[in-house]
Amino acid sequence: MKRIAAVVVATALALTACSASVPDQRPPGTSQPNPAPGAGPGPKTSAPYPFGTVQQKAPAIENGQVPVVRRITTDKPYVFLTMDDGAVKDPDALKLMQQNGTHPVLFLNEKYVKGHEAYFKQILDATGATLGDHTVDHPNLKGKPFEFQRQEICADADDFQQSLGVRPSLFRPPFGNYDQNTLRAAAACGMRVAVLWTAAVNDGHVQFQAGDKLKPGDIVLMHFRKTFREDYTAFVEQAKKDGLTPVPLADFLG
Ligand SMILES: [Zn+2]
Repeated sequence: MKRIAAVVVATALALTACSASVPDQRPPGTSQPNPAPGAGPGPKTSAPYPFGTVQQKAPAIENGQVPVVRRITTDKPYVFLTMDDGAVKDPDALKLMQQNGTHPVLFLNEKYVKGHEAYFKQILDATGATLGDHTVDHPNLKGKPFEFQRQEICADADDFQQSLGVRPSLFRPPFGNYDQNTLRAAAACGMRVAVLWTAAVNDGHVQFQAGDKLKPGDIVLMHFRKTFREDYTAFVEQAKKDGLTPVPLADFLG
């Protein structure tokens, strides 16, 4: 047991040391939708490619409907984290996210952001997270009239543009439930893709769709909940265990 612990510590140290020598490879003047790890004050981790550069394209919008993406097709050891809703504002979330460059997409609801803009803006600015649209009120959209759905999706993006200074273009339907009107409404609101997931973290445990490990290309769902620390830590540990590096989803949906 002692020996295993020593190896783990050595690996962690190696990661830290290694990252310090990896410079930010982004050309000067390039926009920074996803700052490279180390942009914040936390320990640095190595970047496998210059974050904020498109690695893969999203499927095209067809027939006025955004494509639905459940996982990213890649042979590289990458995994993608998403954080939903925004109901509980854990005061340690920023620090935790700075300690590990997980580059999540935050699919937020306006009803949870309202009055807490500074909390989320700080996270977005300091951690390389991407903002996503998750509707204003988190309704089950499936079966609802087009106009209702359009309003829920568009108003979320409009409000974030005003209050957070960013307009999202990635969308996640609440509960993962959608129909054709959802995909049309998302496109009408300027969304490029509807993002679902292939694994989730609940109560500090990673739940897999199949098997017992995360696989390259998995999109992982967690929430801003009371168990934020446990859930976040469980994801970081699982990714490490499975040899996967969390990278920005937006780079693979260019
Ligand atoms: Zn949700």
